[in-house]
Amino acid sequence: MGREHLARLSRPRARTRTTARTRTRPAGSGRAAGAVLSVLTALSALLLLVLTAVPAGAGTDGFRGETARAVRAHERARARVDRLREEDAPDTEVRAAERRRKAVRAGLWDLLWATGRNSGDPVAVDASGRDGHCPFGDRSRPAGQRSPAWTAPIHHYWLSAGYAAKGSRWAHRHTGQDFAVDAGSPVYAVGSGTVQATTCGDGFGNQVVVRHRDGYFTQYAHLSRIDVRKGERVTAGRRIGLSGATGNVTGPHLHFEVRITPYVGSAVPPLPWLRRKDVRVGGASLDAVRRNYHCCRGR
Ligand SMILES: [Zn+2]
Repeated sequence: MGREHLARLSRPRARTRTTARTRTRPAGSGRAAGAVLSVLTALSALLLLVLTAVPAGAGTDGFRGETARAVRAHERARARVDRLREEDAPDTEVRAAERRRKAVRAGLWDLLWATGRNSGDPVAVDASGRDGHCPFGDRSRPAGQRSPAWTAPIHHYWLSAGYAAKGSRWAHRHTGQDFAVDAGSPVYAVGSGTVQATTCGDGFGNQVVVRHRDGYFTQYAHLSRIDVRKGERVTAGRRIGLSGATGNVTGPHLHFEVRITPYVGSAVPPLPWLRRKDVRVGGASLDAVRRNYHCCRGR
């Protein structure tokens, strides 16, 4: 997936080089000042373009600059709300903290909207979900399904690349948790919520983004089939699709992200988040089968 973002990123940089070459061309002395001025204007515009086009997930800690500060501010605001609730603080205090968190999140969303639009985030670019073009499968609800509060997104997996994993296979740190599974394994919503988006055709392949009541979003990518539609309500353990190898992958797996917003670049560490929901995700690492499996190059 990251490769696509890189490809998009390389364009403004290439244009910057072209502009630089233009500057070295001889120019008449009368026009020189004007030419230099317009080149400088163009360069600063391009610099702005490059800065805004950088995916927010490209930084060492997943975010950069202003976005990183906004994400930290939001996490602090959320931690404060959680703490007040745990301490059974007065309602007014909790509500005030929650209002503050929402205000911080609104600012963060604006940042991520801009970043997502410029980096081609499918969820930001096409919030409608384009579900007519995705390979949908069976939308019927499986019978006898349990409804735990929170659950793992997949059963019978190998844990492969983790959050912020760094390696020769990725240009940037990894923004989710990978579960290596055979294509066709059922993928479950980890908690109740509403399907925010279903998209296909980009580096994430067929993907589903679910909005949960606690304000977080979960993303399920590289699916072979999507079984839910945008706006549909889901419960924990509801099958939302089947695992696959669509998008920018070289092997079947589920790429799972927990995000502050629906957009690329707002991911938080998914396993600690699941642990806070009393969902234990563990098991063998993929070292044993690494030779047969590669994931998410560029991510
Ligand atoms: Zn991945």
